[in-house]
Amino acid sequence: MHYDPLPEFRRCPATGRWVIFAPERARRPITLAHTEPHHRDRVNPGTVCPFCEGNEKLAAGEVYAVRPDGSAKDSPGWQLRVIPNKFPALRSEMTSTLPMLDPFFEARPGFGAHEVVVPCREHEPNPANLSLDQYAELLVAYRERIRAFSADALWHYAQVFQNVGAEAGASLAHMHAQIIALPMVPDAVQAEWDFAKTYHGERGHCVYCDLIAKERAARSRIIRETEHFIAICPFAPRFAYEFWVMPRYHASHFEITGDAALNELAGLFLDLLAALDKVLDEPAYNAFLHTSPLRAKLNPHFHWHWEVIPRTARAAGFEWGSGCFLNAVPPEKAAYELRQRLTSNLQLS
Ligand SMILES: [Zn+2]
Ligand SMILES: [Zn+2]
Ligand SMILES: [Zn+2]
Repeated sequence: MHYDPLPEFRRCPATGRWVIFAPERARRPITLAHTEPHHRDRVNPGTVCPFCEGNEKLAAGEVYAVRPDGSAKDSPGWQLRVIPNKFPALRSEMTSTLPMLDPFFEARPGFGAHEVVVPCREHEPNPANLSLDQYAELLVAYRERIRAFSADALWHYAQVFQNVGAEAGASLAHMHAQIIALPMVPDAVQAEWDFAKTYHGERGHCVYCDLIAKERAARSRIIRETEHFIAICPFAPRFAYEFWVMPRYHASHFEITGDAALNELAGLFLDLLAALDKVLDEPAYNAFLHTSPLRAKLNPHFHWHWEVIPRTARAAGFEWGSGCFLNAVPPEKAAYELRQRLTSNLQLS
């Protein structure tokens, strides 16, 4: 029996969930040991890091870069590069349509774009060690790539995410983020969108704006506020020390954020990640952006936000079976500890 190795979306006929079959992912070189905390991440001896300066030919096809000296594409001299993922979850060429044998089993070609953002040319595994400039350029790169995908009507969502540490799914230590553009809105974003839209329909308010006002009144779950942003441990986090970062003003689309605001956000992120490293001794974590779908207009109900989820415990049978997470650390305690470890001496306003 021959199985075609092309990627594919399949919708489970019993639950409606989408799954992506990504055969290329099996061929990735995994250079991180999967039990080590990420501060011990090292490239295995004998392997060359494709993200270090000088190795651009190993990760060629740059689609965006910061090159202050005007150096050539795919050559040294960069500060940040965005390149196609060599082992993409999805294919960017429209592959032949799958024969629809039975509409009960809904499947679509695995059409998508998968990019890697490398924010530093040095072999640095920890995002908290980026400079303010580097982190700000990283956020600008996300914005520019979302704008680029948004300009093409094929794309419906651009999922931006960072996996830090092997336990969080990183396969190469050199700090990198990823963007996967999809021809549909993924289930998690659609669910948040629908919830926020219903809330707005019933009460005439953005649920995130209401949340921010309530948290500012309660104060116990706020980690830090800056002029335009707020970081909180949410009221009902799934993971210990989970935190969210969002604008204090209403904003439905991340990609319209200006440079000055992204610079402020970069400083806030660096402080939060450094505090997280201190509290949990450099844990593995995932960070991801939730923003409005690419085809959605500016709207009063969705409010972009980052979610950061430390991987201190594994989802086990109860979580998988019930869909309900067990969290050992109340968010008020997590926010207090993170607040205590913030280095800059800015006070809550
Ligand atoms: Zn490297
Ligand atoms: Zn809002
Ligand atoms: Zn979200």
